[in-house]
Amino acid sequence: MFKVKILCPSTQQPVDTGIATSQQSWESTSATNNRVRCPHCSETHTWDKPDAFLEGVSAG
Ligand SMILES: [Zn+2]
Repeated sequence: MFKVKILCPSTQQPVDTGIATSQQSWESTSATNNRVRCPHCSETHTWDKPDAFLEGVSAG
């Protein structure tokens, strides 16, 4: 599984969107107009799939 993250546009820090996905389901989804509360700058960021990246979660 992967965590879906975006980069905060203000601080360039990774923000966990709270979404977990597999590579396969991520490729078949069309995530648009999502919102996430940013812990770095306290803003709410709107993000689309191209803004996001996957971070692997180690099993175990
Ligand atoms: Zn932010």
